[in-house]
Amino acid sequence: SSQDHGDGSSSERHDGLPKRGVSNTVVGVLGGGQLGRMLCQAASQMAVKVVILDPLESCPASGLAYQHVVGSFDDGDAVREFAKRCGVLTVEIEHVDAVTLEKLELQGIDCQPKASTIRIIQDKYLQKVHFSQQGIPLPDFMEIDNLANTEKAGELFGYPLMIKSKRLAYDGRGNAVAHTKEELPSVVAALGGFDHGLYVERWTPFEKELSVIVARARDNSVSCFPVVETIHKNNICHIVESPADVPDKIKKLAVDIAQKAVKSLEGAGVFAVELFLTKDGQVLLNEVAPRPHNSGHHTIESCYTSQYEQHLRAILGLPLGDPSMKTPAAIMYNILGEDEGEAGFHLAHQLMGKALKIPGANIHWYDKPEMRKLRKMGHITIVGPSKNVVKERLDSLLERETPGSH
Ligand code: ATP
Ligand code: MG
Ligand code: MG
Repeated sequence: SSQDHGDGSSSERHDGLPKRGVSNTVVGVLGGGQLGRMLCQAASQMAVKVVILDPLESCPASGLAYQHVVGSFDDGDAVREFAKRCGVLTVEIEHVDAVTLEKLELQGIDCQPKASTIRIIQDKYLQKVHFSQQGIPLPDFMEIDNLANTEKAGELFGYPLMIKSKRLAYDGRGNAVAHTKEELPSVVAALGGFDHGLYVERWTPFEKELSVIVARARDNSVSCFPVVETIHKNNICHIVESPADVPDKIKKLAVDIAQKAVKSLEGAGVFAVELFLTKDGQVLLNEVAPRPHNSGHHTIESCYTSQYEQHLRAILGLPLGDPSMKTPAAIMYNILGEDEGEAGFHLAHQLMGKALKIPGANIHWYDKPEMRKLRKMGHITIVGPSKNVVKERLDSLLERETPGSH
């Protein structure tokens, strides 16, 4: 199945036409959520063909992809069939069938980043073991599999104690906090019990959370987007400010740790490195995502090259673009479901109506078929001449009319 076209594009799966535009390689994306949707948007500008694999007929990327194969990215047979259409295979979610990807790689399928990276990252405990072996600073952690060693962890790390699921975690689902030893059994039960695969982390009373998006090209050159601050609400990313308001010394430390973390993983693409900044100026790694990330949405409007275009450039073997900001400041606000069903849609609609009137505000609506509380439905990025201005504009957007304010 691999072909050599004599022009350096060997084993590319393409549309059969002679080379036009920047690349004929068909990009296969496992997952068709909002990240896949925004990858399709970046690809369309360069007429790069993106095919997606997602089980949901009306997933956010469906309408924008060149092709949508309806099937599960967690199913070996579906992924194997899907790979036949793709010149390069990438992910917009890490909860994919990594074992199948490893087998496909052995058969010559080009996965970027590499299957080994997905395998390490999709298990948050394995990820922690990997990064600690690399000498990367992170909160103390420990595997737990019964009440006795969980209580032991509580004695070692103190309370509150962060308990996390090893797998299938996102938006804080899979995390729970025990405040006392007595709470341990119920918190473990709430996470599905020990059979589910759990570990604990020492609570980190961070001053701020930071994120660095690192891109690595196929030639191993590395390029970083500006350090941003992420503000979470109920464990879910809520607001992102770019650039982060921290001293240069901290930015450098964050970038150094992020680069070191990414260099320990294999393959091309963008990687998001989530970090904690402690009160005493330490930077600790929280976790890495092997794909575009919520903390990089703002790059669409605020950077010369967005994280989505950068990911495509990286996996297609094109030169990396300029990740620096072309606007002095940006702030991103996630539109999270505030209510179920129609009531939730109505609130989001009202908010976007207001945003349409705010200078520098850019609306992204993911077109998810169902509205649920705390679900990421869209986002708004406001760019402007200074940090204060974009913050004021966001404040004016979020100002809600309170009863009795007339
Ligand atoms: P994501 O959607 O980013 O994949 P996730 O479900 O994998 O999220 P984490 O990144 O582990 O969850 O944690 C979510 C948030 O919970 C963090 O951004 C941070 O605000 C808080 N948190 C996580 N670990 C700790 C810790 N050890 N101490 C204090 N707070 C923590
Ligand atoms: Mg995570
Ligand atoms: Mg996280």
